[in-house]
This record gives sequence, structure tokens and C-alpha cells, in this order.
Amino acid sequence: PTNARHEQREFIRVNSDKVQYTNEAITTDYKYLNTHVEKVHHDDGTTEYVATPIERQYQFKTERKVPRTGLMMVGWGGNNGTTITATILANKHNITWHNKDGVQVPNYYGSLVRASTIRLGTDPATGKDVWVPFSNVLPMVHPNDLVLGGWDISGLPMDQAMARSKVLDYDLQRQVAPYMAEMKPLASVYYPDFIAQNQEERADNTLPGQSKAAHVDQIRADIREFKRQNNLDQVIVVWTANTERYSEIIAGVNDTADNLLKAVEQNHDEVSPSTIFAIACILENAPYVNGAPQNTFVPGCIELAEKHKAFIGGDDLKTGQTKVKSVLAEFLVNAGIKPLSIASYNHLGNNDGYNLSSQRQFKSKEISKASVVDDCCAANHLLYRPAVPGKKTADGKADKGEHPDHCIVIKYQPAVGDQKVAMDDYTSELCMGGRNRLYVTNLCEDSLLASPLLLDLTILAELMTRITYKAGADDKEWNSMYSVLSLLSYSLKAPVVKPGTDVVNSLNRQRAACTNFLRACLGLAPESDLLLETRVW
Ligand code: NAD
Repeated sequence: PTNARHEQREFIRVNSDKVQYTNEAITTDYKYLNTHVEKVHHDDGTTEYVATPIERQYQFKTERKVPRTGLMMVGWGGNNGTTITATILANKHNITWHNKDGVQVPNYYGSLVRASTIRLGTDPATGKDVWVPFSNVLPMVHPNDLVLGGWDISGLPMDQAMARSKVLDYDLQRQVAPYMAEMKPLASVYYPDFIAQNQEERADNTLPGQSKAAHVDQIRADIREFKRQNNLDQVIVVWTANTERYSEIIAGVNDTADNLLKAVEQNHDEVSPSTIFAIACILENAPYVNGAPQNTFVPGCIELAEKHKAFIGGDDLKTGQTKVKSVLAEFLVNAGIKPLSIASYNHLGNNDGYNLSSQRQFKSKEISKASVVDDCCAANHLLYRPAVPGKKTADGKADKGEHPDHCIVIKYQPAVGDQKVAMDDYTSELCMGGRNRLYVTNLCEDSLLASPLLLDLTILAELMTRITYKAGADDKEWNSMYSVLSLLSYSLKAPVVKPGTDVVNSLNRQRAACTNFLRACLGLAPESDLLLETRVW
């Protein structure tokens, strides 16, 4: 069965003097290779790119003991929260169920970690590739072992919340309901200005009082109590609650860590519930991932995470339409075909769609969905004119260079429920003025696409807390990885990255970064697909 624990039956051992195994840790010496490029503009108008290979020595250490881990979801009673809870319970208790296609067996399809494999190497005897489960590469927490909890502004017990979501087959709901009846979301932070007004009718489980400082304290206490009650070593918190409006970035309010903490003390209006959760998690050193599009991680919040060496990741789960877009746009541009227009239409009838029918919340989603092709177009100056620094467009804005027209429409259609429909039209320019039109329709249960991503984010965030590094032979300390976990980008629509560095939206590059990092922790060279053995005599 697909939910069998393959990691207990298959092991990877790296046979190299660069890797040391102890009971506690796997330690590797790793040579990082990159290329530094300097652009030299000559007087005759030519540009020379001077490429210098660089080498840097790192050591990576991965603690082998997987801690007892809790996953606390903000918005636990929503479609994603209830769906992933039922999925884990069904897997854990081996619950099978009937639908019109026959008997269904639980699995974790759609999870990068649990349902995909990576190429470990080549079998010299046969010359064939050897593939291993992603989750076997390093010790990772198994979703069945996660202790689940969380908050919701709706106090409905989880069995009823699952029924409200209308995602899973009735025969499955019937069997997991007894496990979920005792699960009740904790009261949450509710500032009505941040989510659609139409959500007010379900907000019956909110923290009392107006004091934002008291709310931070309460969330911190909730995390500590959850840890204590369940005897946990680690808690990961994921925001899978409603999409909020953007917070305004205001100097003196949320621009620095100190100002943000001051703004909390002063109850400033622009501190959103998702940022309150982020602050609480940072102060509790619980990794926090934002699965919705709003700008939870205002600059002050990123600085606060840096100061506390806490882990954060975001923004917005990358599921159907955007995932396909980050593949298709990259394919077109890398094939030398020029997308001129990308028009994306969505309609959905779940509570997420209801919330997004409000303009300010839609805006957050639109921004998150819009940026996904930017980097791949900017990477090809043969197709797209680059931005000219200092140049202004006709309407006075900074020149962003040439890029495809890109529109995003989302409509709420209650009758389609969780069966979200996404339709895209890609119009591209071909050789000699030709036109190519690609139409993509994506139809599925929105929450079944999204829920496994919550697991990937949780499992990888937890793993990142057990990996430390030394940079060079002189580095005496084992350092934790940088606070913003951009290695989670594969599952995120608008990845938050280290300030000042480029965002990578390409799905393939994001996956390669992640798997190559895991390989580095085993002292293995990155996958280059060079496969020289197959190209030389
Ligand atoms: P949902 O509306 O079913 O669930 C959200 C839950 O959050 C609700 O139960 C609501 O009561 C609760 N909530 C709202 N504000 C809260 C607060 N301050 N504290 C605690 N709980 C709060 O939505 P969903 O379909 O589960 O999606 C969750 C989020 O994930 C949305 O923001 C959505 O945009 C985002 N997302 C979903 C997908 C997908 O494919 N399903 C993809 C990308 C992003």
C-alpha cells in the first residue's frame, strides 16, 4: 500500500570519506561551485561578460533524530485544515472507503516529500538510473506522526468543519469523524478589517479584548501549552487561514523589528492577525510558514526573524494554475518563444472564493499570482527589452522593461464548491510573426491539491531546523541556516527570499535547489543531468 513506511525498509548510505555518520548526525564536507560574472562595458559599445569559476568549502551537519513534532494550523477549521487532518487520520489508521469507483486507499499523492522520488545516481552494473523516495534522502518527520492542532475564528469542532468544507467522500468523512469530534480549534486573533466582511458570520471563536500585545502573548502561550500537553520537541505553525488584505508598509510602524514590536504595543491598525502569529512564532522559535498571499512578512517581521534566528517561509501555496504557469511560461521563454499575453480566469465556490470575492483580499491574490512569470521573462533579453534604470513610463511609473500582458480574474460561483476551475490562454509570438495559442483548463478539488503542500512545508521546515553549517575551515561555530526558508519555494506562489536576492519562480529550478541541497547534506554532487557516461565513448 502507498502509505507503507518505506523509509523503515530502505536506507541510503554514502560511501565517501567526505561523509561521517554518527548516531547523532550526518556530517559532510562539501565543495560548492558557482560562477561569478562581471559585466564590462567597453568604449566601442560592446559588453564583455567575464565569468570566473568560484569554489567554496562548506560543512553541513544534519541531526538524525527526528523530533516529536506538532503542526499547528491557523485556519484549522477551513477546507485545507480539515482536509489535511482527515487525510492524516485516514493514513494513520489505515482507513479505506468506498466511492463510486470502488474501494479507495489513503495516500499522500500531491506531496513532493511523500509521493515523489529523486535520482540518487546510476547503477554501474546496468547503467540504469536509481531513484529513491524524496523522504528517504535525509531523516524527515512522517506525516502520520505529526500531532495536529491549531486555531480558527470559527469554533466548529473539526468533524463538523470537515462536513462544512464538502471536500471528502461521505464514506471517508463518516469514518474519520469520530477522531475529529474531539478536536476543537483554539480561539484566534480576529481583526475584521483584514479579511472579507462576509467572514463575520463564522467568527464565533475569537480572542477577547483589543490589545495586540495580549494577543501575541496568548498565541505564544497556546504554542507552549500545545507543546507541553503533547510532549513535543518542535512545533511548526502554518497560516492556512483566509487571505488578508495587504498591510500598508509605514515608516516607523512595520519597517524595522523594533518599530513592529512598538506598533504591537501601541495597537497600531496596520498590524495584521497573520503578522501577530508570525511575531508570536518568532519569539517562541517555532518555524512559521504563510500559506496565503498577504504580506505578513513586512520588513520589520523579517528583521525580527533574523534577530531571533527563527525560521519563516512564504507566501501563498502554489497549487494548480500558478504551478502550471511557472512551468509553461518557462518552457516557452526557454524555447525562444515569446509569450505576449497570459489571461487567467478562475471560478470557485468554496469559502476561500467567498473571501476573495471582496476586492482588497482579491488584490492580495492578484499580486501573488501576477509575479510568477517576471523572473523568467527578465532572464531572456533577446525576447524582452530589459528595464532601463531611471526611465519612467508614460504614466510616471518606473520602467519595468517589456513583459507579457498578464491578467488574473477570480469569480465566486457558490455552486461549483471546492471544484475550482482555472482556465488560461497563453498567446505567444513564433518565428516570422506567427502566433501560438495554448489553452489550459485545470479542474479539481482545490483543497486536495493544496493540503499535501501543508505537509511538504511542515516537513521541510522541520528538517531545516536540524541542519547547520560551517562556512570554510576557519568557521568554528555550527550556524543555523538563514531565517527566510527560500528552499520551500517549490510549494509557494510568491516566494519570500533573503532581502536583496532574486526570487526564483521556475518550478524546476526550485525543485532542483531543494533536492541538490538535500544531496549536499549527504556530500553528493548536485544533479546536473550531464550523464557524461552516455555521451562519451
Ligand atoms: P477556507 O476559507 O476554507 O479556510 C480558512 C479558515 O481560516 C476558515 O475556517 C476561517 O474561519 C479561518 N480564519 C480566518 N481568519 C482567521 C484568523 N485570523 N485566525 C484563525 N482562523 C482564521 O480556505 P482554504 O480553502 O482552506 O484556504 C486557506 C488559505 O490558503 C486561503 O488564504 C487561500 O487563499 C490559501 N490558498 C489556498 C489554495 C488552494 O488551492 N486551496 C492555494 C493557495 C492558497
